[in-house]
Amino acid sequence: MENIKKLVIANRGEIALRILRACRQLGIQTVALHSVADSDAKYVRLADESVCIGPAPPFASYLDIASVISAAEVTEANAIHPGYGFLSENADFAERVEQSGFIFVGPKAETIRMLGDKISAIQLMDRAGIPCVPGSNGPISGDWTHILETAKRIGFPLMIKASGGGGGKGMRLCHDEASLEQAVLLTRKEAAAAFNNDTLYMERFLERPRHVEFQVLADSHGNVIHLGERDCSMQRRHQKVIEEAPAPGITESQRDRIGGLCTEACRQLGYRGAGTFEFLYEDEEFYFIEVNTRIQVEHPVTEMITGIDLLQEQIRIADGQPLRYRQDDVRFTGHAFECRINAEDPYTFTPSPGRITNYHIAGGPGVRVDSHVYSNYQVPPYYDSMIGKLITHGISRSDALTRMHGALQEMVVDGISTNIPLHRELVIDPGFISGSQDIHYLEKKLGR
Ligand code: ADP
Repeated sequence: MENIKKLVIANRGEIALRILRACRQLGIQTVALHSVADSDAKYVRLADESVCIGPAPPFASYLDIASVISAAEVTEANAIHPGYGFLSENADFAERVEQSGFIFVGPKAETIRMLGDKISAIQLMDRAGIPCVPGSNGPISGDWTHILETAKRIGFPLMIKASGGGGGKGMRLCHDEASLEQAVLLTRKEAAAAFNNDTLYMERFLERPRHVEFQVLADSHGNVIHLGERDCSMQRRHQKVIEEAPAPGITESQRDRIGGLCTEACRQLGYRGAGTFEFLYEDEEFYFIEVNTRIQVEHPVTEMITGIDLLQEQIRIADGQPLRYRQDDVRFTGHAFECRINAEDPYTFTPSPGRITNYHIAGGPGVRVDSHVYSNYQVPPYYDSMIGKLITHGISRSDALTRMHGALQEMVVDGISTNIPLHRELVIDPGFISGSQDIHYLEKKLGR
């Protein structure tokens, strides 16, 4: 690389290993940051250097901005990759990283800030011609008559959302006029406590949408491409469980149209890096919900159908290089699925940390496992329960699904509970096999 010589991996788990692999291929030295609980992780040993940045609780290590920056200083690294989760969408962190003289692998801090605020994100998208959920088009005031009028215009049921919300928090469904006042007051209170920002807005509640999101890559020279879409409708409590690309039933002309609008919005915003535009999709219409300004967990399904290494491209962009692909170079081949493997009881979803006594991964054509775990690995209790991702690719959706079915049979993770038995059921579920299910399908199937 021209600029990035040594990169700090400010994350843990499978994404830390994924970043490390990309850096090796690009000839970049790596520094793995880890908490006390992750000292023995394989990727920590594989990295050129490692720094323990604090005790196990995330706020004292992976979320501690000062520790992350001083680790970069001590090791004389010149770039920081935040992965996903933790500090990845923290605009203050991105700003501190750049002010301290490091390259941040992600968008500019001001972009993260603008898109992190939901109202400003929706207004920016609306201006760029991206279809949004019909709603208040801005904050709702304290004036009660005005709130009621706006609600009636939108129609019930509607969603009351906090502009500063995230991670599925700070929103409330409201069914009718009678419960509106109470719902607004409660959401305002919660938003003030959770996000230190009580700004609210309202939008129409979509009854049975699918979750369809578009991947973009934008360099710092004004070049932007999209890499098509993913369907992440198989969710439980707003957490994605299985993802796939392309999204079933989305036509080439829909892909070109929405993908084109996303790239145009990136150009207008001066967006830089990898990003995801999330939409709800219902009755053949797309409705923008948010932009994620980072690499996502489910990026591998896009890599499988495009052959483009998203982590490498993300790092090249941060290095200041122009994109190596134009839109016409992006070709979609076949279909891919990703099953998130979690250390949890497959039916109660209670986390199941502990020692993995026996670990055997699946293999064969079109099978990929992104995971940092191994036999004798101790899954710590302090972090997200995801321990890896099983990804398959095939020439068609059914071919990729058959491969997933076979791969799930081969996977062995003993010593802890995992959701592999649930995935084995889902890949033979007639509704899932038929495709195009809405975001409530999985929870309904699970009986709640
Ligand atoms: P967060 O940033 O907290 O993840 P999002 O705005 O992305 O919030 O919404 C999270 C999820 O909530 C969506 O994936 C969808 O399942 C549901 N949701 C959000 N807005 C609506 C809406 N207007 N109608 C129906 N469901 C919605």
